[in-house]
Amino acid sequence: MKFTDLPLDHRLQKSLQAKTFTDTTEIQTLAIPHALYGKDLIASSKTGSGKTLAFLIPAIQRVIKQKPLSKRDPRVLILAPTRELAKQVFGELKKLLQGLPYKCALILGGENYNDQVKALGRHPCFVIGTAGRIADHLKDKSLFLNGLELLILDEADRMLDLGFSDQLNLIHGYADPRKRQTMMFSATMDNVQLHALTQRLMRQPERIKVGEAYAQHEEIEQSFYLADHLDHKQALLAAMLENLTYQQAIIFTATRNDAERLTELTKTWGIESVGLHGDMKQSQRSMIMSEFSRNRYACLITTDVASRGLDLSKISLVINFDMPKHSDEYIHRVGRTGRAGNHGSAISLIGPKDWNSFTQLKSFLTHELEFSIWPELEGKFKGFRPRNKPAKSSQADDKSTTKQRSSNHKKPVKRVNTMQGKEAGFGAMRKKPRVSSEVEEKQNPWLSGKQDSD
Ligand code: ADP
Ligand code: MG
Repeated sequence: MKFTDLPLDHRLQKSLQAKTFTDTTEIQTLAIPHALYGKDLIASSKTGSGKTLAFLIPAIQRVIKQKPLSKRDPRVLILAPTRELAKQVFGELKKLLQGLPYKCALILGGENYNDQVKALGRHPCFVIGTAGRIADHLKDKSLFLNGLELLILDEADRMLDLGFSDQLNLIHGYADPRKRQTMMFSATMDNVQLHALTQRLMRQPERIKVGEAYAQHEEIEQSFYLADHLDHKQALLAAMLENLTYQQAIIFTATRNDAERLTELTKTWGIESVGLHGDMKQSQRSMIMSEFSRNRYACLITTDVASRGLDLSKISLVINFDMPKHSDEYIHRVGRTGRAGNHGSAISLIGPKDWNSFTQLKSFLTHELEFSIWPELEGKFKGFRPRNKPAKSSQADDKSTTKQRSSNHKKPVKRVNTMQGKEAGFGAMRKKPRVSSEVEEKQNPWLSGKQDSD
C-alpha cells in the first residue's frame, strides 16, 4: 500500500511526502486503518519495521479530524521506557507536525522540572515522555489528562514491567478509560495479553501481529562465539573490532560498571568508543546520543538502556559482550541493526555465566544457533552438559553446532578510519591488567539500566 492510499489530511500527506519511502510496511498497512477507526490495539512486528509511524500517523490524523474533548489538556500521550527513545519519537512527531498547528511537549526524567511545567502550561496537544516524570506532573497538577483521547505505549511489554505499573495505573486513573483509545506497540508482545494491567488499560483490543518474535530476522546475521572467561571475551572483542568492518557498532554489557570499564579498555585499543548508561546525567546522555548519531564515535558501549527502540541508521554491528538475561531483550538488542530493510550483523559472546541465557534463547528461537570459532581464539569452554544427559552430548549442546569462521564470512558494512592496526588492538588489550567483571557483583538488572523509571 502507498501512504497516499491512506485517508489522511493533505497536510499530513505532505509531511509524509518528505520521507524517502512511499510504500507502507506491513504493520503500517494493518495497524493504521484499525487505529484510525478508534480501536484499542496490541500490535507487534519485528524490530525496525516502522512501528513508530504506525502509531504517529493515526494519532495525528485523529487530532486533525476529531473535535477535542478539551482545549486545555493534551489529547495524545505517548510513553516510552527510556529518555532516548522518547526523544527519538518526539523528533519523528515534530517532523510530521510540520505545517500543522499543534504543539507538542517532551517530558523526560532528569530534565528541568520548571521548564516542563511551563511547557505543559502552553497546553500542548501531544505529550511524549517517560512514565515517572509524567506521573510527577500529574501529582503536582501541572498536567491534567481529563481530555486525553489517545494513550500510546511504545515498547509496551517493557512499559508493563514491574517498575512502571504504579505509574501506569496512576496515568490510567487520571485519563478516563471510557473516552480514551489505547494502543500498544512492540516487537515482543506475546505475554502482554495475559497481563492483568493490559486488561485494565484496554477495551477489547484488536491484536495485530506481523510475524513471530522468535522467528529469524532475515536482515540480521546472528552468530555466537564461546568464551572461557572475561579475558577471552576481551580478546575476542578486540579481534572482532579490529578485523570486522562496520559503520557503527553497539556493544551491550550486563552492568553499568562493565559498560564503563569496557569503554575505557576499548579506547586503549584505539577504538573511538563512548559509554552510555543510566547513572549518567541527562545532559551527558543527550550529548553522547547526539554525537553518536552524528557518527562522532565508532562504538557505543551500553546496557539495556539502549536495547529498545533506538533507530540509528549506521549501526551495522551489534555485539552482546554479555548475554541479556531474557530472550526478549536479545531480540531488541540485535534489532538495533538490520533496520528498515538494511543488513546487519549481531555477535554474542557466550561465557559460562551466559550459558543459561543462551540455552533459554535457543529454546525460544525457532532457527538453529550455531557456534562460530574465531581463528586462534578457540577456547576450552564448550557449554555445560545438560542435566541427566550422557557425557556424549556434553559438547556445547545437541542442537548447536560449531562452525569455523571462514574467510568468506560475510562482513558487515565498512567503518572507515576507525581501526588503528594490530598494535592498538589485540596487543594493547593483552597488556591490560586482569579485571574480572564475570565475578564482579552484578547489579540488580532493574537498576542496571534497563529503563528510566523516572
Ligand atoms: P520499529 O519501531 O518497528 O522498530 P521504527 O519505527 O523505528 O521501527 O522504524 C525503523 C526505520 O524504518 C526508521 O528509520 C523509519 O524511518 C523507517 N521506516 C518507517 N516506515 C517505513 C516505510 N514505510 N518504508 C521504509 N522505511 C520506513
Ligand atoms: Mg519502535
